Amino acid sequence: MQKGNIGVTTENIFPVIKKFLYSDHEIFLRELVSNAVDATQKLKTLASKGDFKGEMGDITVRVAIDKEAGTITISDHGIGMTSDEIDKYINQIAFSGANDFLDKYKDDANAIIGHFGLGFYSAFMVAKSVDIITKSYQEGAQAVKWSCDGSPEFTLEEVERKDRGTDIVLHIDDDCKEFLEESRISTLLSKYCRFLPVDVAFGKKKEWKEGKQVDTEEDNIINDSEPLWMKKPQELKDEDYKKFYRDLYPMSDEPLFWIHLNVDYPFNLTGILYFPKIKSNIDLQKNKIQLYCNQVYVTDSVEGIVPDFLTLLHGVIDSPDIPLNVSRSYLQSDSNVKKISTYISKKVADRLQSIFKNDRKEFEQKWDDLKLFIHYGLLTQEDFYDKANKFTLFKDTDDKFYTYEEYQTLIKDNQTDKEGNLIYLYANNKEEQYSYIEAATAKGYNVLLMDGQLDTALVGLLERKLEKSRFTRVDSDVADRLIVKEDAKESTLEAEKSEILSSVFSSQLPKVNKVEFHVEAHSLGEGAAPILITQGEYMRRMKEMAQLQPGMAFYGEMPDMYNLVLNVDHKLIKEVLTDTDKECEAALAPIEAEIRGLNARQAALEQAQQGKKDEEITEAEKNDLTEVEKKLADEKSKKETILTQYAAGNKVVHQLIDLALLQNGMLKGEALNNFVKRSIELI
Ligand code: ADP
Repeated sequence: MQKGNIGVTTENIFPVIKKFLYSDHEIFLRELVSNAVDATQKLKTLASKGDFKGEMGDITVRVAIDKEAGTITISDHGIGMTSDEIDKYINQIAFSGANDFLDKYKDDANAIIGHFGLGFYSAFMVAKSVDIITKSYQEGAQAVKWSCDGSPEFTLEEVERKDRGTDIVLHIDDDCKEFLEESRISTLLSKYCRFLPVDVAFGKKKEWKEGKQVDTEEDNIINDSEPLWMKKPQELKDEDYKKFYRDLYPMSDEPLFWIHLNVDYPFNLTGILYFPKIKSNIDLQKNKIQLYCNQVYVTDSVEGIVPDFLTLLHGVIDSPDIPLNVSRSYLQSDSNVKKISTYISKKVADRLQSIFKNDRKEFEQKWDDLKLFIHYGLLTQEDFYDKANKFTLFKDTDDKFYTYEEYQTLIKDNQTDKEGNLIYLYANNKEEQYSYIEAATAKGYNVLLMDGQLDTALVGLLERKLEKSRFTRVDSDVADRLIVKEDAKESTLEAEKSEILSSVFSSQLPKVNKVEFHVEAHSLGEGAAPILITQGEYMRRMKEMAQLQPGMAFYGEMPDMYNLVLNVDHKLIKEVLTDTDKECEAALAPIEAEIRGLNARQAALEQAQQGKKDEEITEAEKNDLTEVEKKLADEKSKKETILTQYAAGNKVVHQLIDLALLQNGMLKGEALNNFVKRSIELI
C-alpha cells in the first residue's frame, strides 16, 4: 500500500471546504454524478473513434444509499482511472492561496469548486471519508482503491475489480445524515441531474403489492437524457413543447408562446423559453428559468445572463460558454455573457415579430397576457424597443388592436392639436370613465384602453420616443378641450358672473381629506352635461409615478386636485345663475358698488406708485393702498358669506354637485345618504 500527501499548500483544506460551502452542501451530488457521466461519455467518444474496442455493456450510472453502512455510492462504467491518473487528477490539486480565495468567494460555492477543479473534493462537504475504487478501460489495467479521511493524507492500494469503471463511496459525516434519506437524494437528483445525458438510476422502480411499496426489477431512471431543447426544432411539434412545459412546471397553465434557442457561433447556446400565462401578480416571479451547462443543472438565478425583462419567462438555457464558475459580478461584465444576453433578447423579438406577422389574430388574442412582458422589455431595454415597436399593440376601448404606426395613421386627421401634436386619448378603466369615453367618441376621437400594470410608465416612455405626441386621459379635461385645435373662444360669461357661480358651488363642495377642487365655468354647449369633474393629466400622472418610484414621494403627499367644470350654456346652470341673481341682488348690490369703488381707488393708487422706487413712495401712500386692499378683502368676504348662505339652501346646486361626484365614484358615506334622501324628496 502506498501512502502520500495530497498536493495542497494549505494545511488541511477539507474543514475549509466544509465550513465555507455550508449552504451549498448538496451540490456534491451534482459534482460526483456529473463526473460519472463525463467518464461514461469519454468512453463513448473513445469507442466512436475506435480507440476503445471492448463491450460497452450497461453504462447506466447508479446512485445507491446504504443506510446501515452510512454510505452513498456513485458508480459508473466509464473510462475509470489508473493509479497514475488518480495521482495526476485527484492528488495533485493546484491550490495556491486557498484561504484567501475561499475567503473572498465564501458565498459562492460554484466559484470555488469550478475555479480549482474541486468537483470531486466537494464530496468532503458531506463525507468524513471517501473511497475511490476504480479500474481503467485500458487493457490489462489494475484496479485501485484510493481512500482519504479528510486529512491531506491518503492511501492507495491495488484491489480486485471485475468491471471497468469507478465507484465513489462516501462515508457520510454524522452531521450530514439527512443525505442518507432516500427522499432527500431523490429530490436532489431531480433538481441537479434531471437532464444529464447518460441514464442515471436511483434504486428500482416501485409498485404496490399487498398494500406495500415494493421494488420491481426495473431501474428507476431519474433523468431524461435527451431533453427537448437538445433536439432539432424542425422535428418537434407544438404538443412536444407543451408537454415539456408541463413536465417542468406541472402547476402552470399552458404557455402562450415559446422560443427554441439554438446557436453555435460565436458561442454555444441552446434552450427553450416560454412566455407563461400569468394569472395574477403573485405568479410573477423571477427564477423560473433554469440554467444548464451541458445538461448539468447549475442554477435558477439567471440575472445577468438573460436580459432583465426576460427573467420573467420560464424555461431552460443550456450553454457551456457561460463561465458559471465565477462570481456574479464577474459574470455581468463578461463580454461573452453580454453577447448571450443581446442574442436572447434579439431572438425573442424576432420570434414575437414572426408570430405577429404570421398569425396576427392569435397574437391579438394573447395580447393581454403578453403585454406585460413586452412592456417590461420596452421600458428596460433600449434595443428591444427598436425591434418591438413594430409589433407592440395598442388596444382601444372597442377591443380593436393597432400597431403604433397604424394607430398614428388612424388618429392623425382628427386628433392633432393646434401645435401639431398628436393627442393619444386613453382610459384606464372602461367602467369608471364611461361617460368621458362616450363624450370623446362622440367627437369622433378614438380612446385607447391602457389598464396594464406598466401603462403609466409606458405613457412616459412613448411620449419620449414618439415625436410630437401627447397622452391625455379622457377624464383630464372636458371633451371639447382634450384636443385644443384652435384658440379658445371668449367665454360668453362676464368674469363677475363666473366668479359668482364659482363661489356658489365651491362653498357647497364636501370637504374631503387630501382632495382639492377648483371650480371653473366654461361654455360647453347646450347639449353637454351641466357639470363634470376632471383631473389634470400632469398632476395625476406625477402621483401615479410616485407610487412606482420611491424618489417621488413628494408628489404622493400632495392632495388630489380636481376641476369641477360648470357648463354655463346648460339650462340648469343658467337657472342657478338667474336665481342667485334674483335672491341675492338686494344684498349684493351695495357691496358690489363698494367693491367697484374700491377697485377704482386701488387702480388709481397703483397707477400713482408705478415706476417709483420704494423710497420715493411716502408712508401715507403705502398705508392708503394697504387700507384699500384690506377693505376690498372685507367686502369680498361679505359677498362670499351672502352667496354661501344662499347656496346652502339651493337644492339644485347640491344635486348637481352630488351627481358629478357620484359619476366619479366620489360620493360616499353621509354625503351619499343625503343625496339619496334629497333625490327622493325631489321626486
Ligand atoms: P473536473 O471534473 O472539473 O475536472 P474533478 O475534481 O471533479 O474536476 O475531477 C478531476 C478529474 O478526476 C476529472 O477531470 C477526471 O479526469 C477524474 N475523475 C473524476 N471522477 C471520475 C470518474 N468517476 N471516472 C473517471 N475519472 C474521474
